[in-house]
Amino acid sequence: MYLVRPLVLLVSLFSSALSYGDWHYHKESIMGTEVHLQFWHEDGSRAQAISASVMGEFRRIDAALSPYKEDSELSRVNRTAGLGPVPVTAELASIIQKSLWYSDKTAGAFDITYATVGSLYDFRKGERANQATTEQLLPAVNYQHLQLDTKQNTLAFADPRTKIDLGGIAKGYAVDRAVAILQQSGVTHASVSAGGDARLLGDKRGKPWLIGIRHPRDKSKNAAVIPLENTAISTSGDYERFFIDDDDHRVHHIFNPSTGKPAATDPDGDTSDNQKLISVSVIGPRGFDTDPLSTSVFVLGKQKGLALVEGLDGFEAIVIDANHRMFFTSGLQQ
Ligand code: ADP
Ligand code: MG
Repeated sequence: MYLVRPLVLLVSLFSSALSYGDWHYHKESIMGTEVHLQFWHEDGSRAQAISASVMGEFRRIDAALSPYKEDSELSRVNRTAGLGPVPVTAELASIIQKSLWYSDKTAGAFDITYATVGSLYDFRKGERANQATTEQLLPAVNYQHLQLDTKQNTLAFADPRTKIDLGGIAKGYAVDRAVAILQQSGVTHASVSAGGDARLLGDKRGKPWLIGIRHPRDKSKNAAVIPLENTAISTSGDYERFFIDDDDHRVHHIFNPSTGKPAATDPDGDTSDNQKLISVSVIGPRGFDTDPLSTSVFVLGKQKGLALVEGLDGFEAIVIDANHRMFFTSGLQQ
């Protein structure tokens, strides 16, 4: 008895010293969504400083790229690039360059100039561009109007009416930046999400992170829960920002650049051939890719969208069609 007790005490002290640490949580409204951060760290006050620098980075990116802030770099470019080349930061140039890469890859399904018409929509107020305005502006919706010079870091719009918006890529970019900060700070287990874009660093200390894909028509339910680690996942759906119009059509925030209207909301639309998607999740190494890809697949529809992801190494997709059926790329089909 006398001998065992101190030994047990010693062992338990030693093991608690080994696993010393805690999960740290932080939540904040930034970029028009909830940013969630969870990570493991041994030192509480150090963890607070790390949280602050991660959230500071989200706020910095929002201040540069928000279309709702008059003084953002994006707003300035939208006001001036129609008149001729304007200087842009290397960061903005790299995000536009990535966007253009996806425009080429998707034959224009992903196109940040959708905003030429899309910026006339207000989903909270239930406002949209009328038919005449849409037709008038449609020729200005075209990524080929973007003249990006990556040596000089300048941008010009060939059509003076063109506007850009980075809502389909900025949050994926931001979660990657957050993970880079966490890694530089020595963090090895973390989950960061900004709305539909999440990135996981390591696992949840011995078990995978469980990521829910929301049921697109029932907020309280998950359509699927997937175990993931060390990866990014982005979800695009027609249920995040939308209103229902007088004809009972869902007017949502993901645009088909070839029509200048929300994707697949044509009254005689393509729901019958099951190509219309209502939720798209893409899994891959970085949010900078999964974010534009989820938007792209949504616009392309089931067959073309899944084919796009099948053709990319290291990416998988889970899609839900308008009949609430779920489909996967081949790497997830077990
Ligand atoms: P969320 O913003 O809910 O995460 P997505 O990642 O799918 O969803 O991004 C949708 C956003 O992308 C829209 O709110 C808009 O800012 C932008 N967007 C909409 N249609 C397109 C498009 N065809 N190409 C590029 N960006 C788009
Ligand atoms: Mg996206």
